[in-house]
Amino acid sequence: MFTLMALPYAPDALAPIITANTIGFHHGKHHKTYVDNLNNLVKGTDLEGKSLEEVVMATAGKADKAPLFNNSAQIWNHDFYWKSLKPNGGGVPTGKIADRINESFGSFEEFKKQLSATTVSQFGSGWGWLVADAAGKLKVVKTGNAEVPMTQGLKPLLTIDVWEHAYYLDHQNRRADYVNAVIDKLLNWEFAAANL
Ligand code: MN
Repeated sequence: MFTLMALPYAPDALAPIITANTIGFHHGKHHKTYVDNLNNLVKGTDLEGKSLEEVVMATAGKADKAPLFNNSAQIWNHDFYWKSLKPNGGGVPTGKIADRINESFGSFEEFKKQLSATTVSQFGSGWGWLVADAAGKLKVVKTGNAEVPMTQGLKPLLTIDVWEHAYYLDHQNRRADYVNAVIDKLLNWEFAAANL
C-alpha cells in the first residue's frame, strides 16, 4: 500500500507564502487523492508490491498506463515538493552545492533568475526543477502535468509545484509572486545538497 507522506512541518509553518488553508487542500485532498487512486489502480496488476519509483519508471511514456503514471508520478512529485520546502528556508546556499551553482549558472543571482523565469513560464499545470544532468552540470528545467525529470536521465535536487492548487487560494493569478517568495524564503537547501 502506498501512503500519504506526513508533512515534515506544521501545516501553518510555511505561512503566509503557503497558508494552512492551501496545505489542507493540497496535502490533505489533492496529494491524498493521488495515493488513494494509485492504491486502487495497482490492485491485482503486476505492479502491486512495487516501489513508487518502480511504478513511475515502468509506466512513463506508455499511453495505456497513463492513469498509473499520472497518479504515481504525482505522489513522487509531491513527496519531493514538501521536502523541497522548509520554514525559514531560502537564502543563499553554502558549501558544495553553492560551488556547483556558481560553476553551472555563473552566479546565484543568475540561477535564481532562471529558476523563477522557467518555473513561472510553465504553460498550464506542472513543475519547475533544479536538476543535475548525467555529466553533473546543474540545470533548471520545467515539466508539464505529472512529468518527472528522472525519465530524461536528470537527477532532481529541488522542485516548485505550479499547478494552480499550489498557490491559487493564497496568490490567485499571481504565480510569479508565489514562485519568487518560495525561492527567497522556503527552499530547503539542505535537502538539495543531500540530493546532490
Ligand atoms: Mn500539487
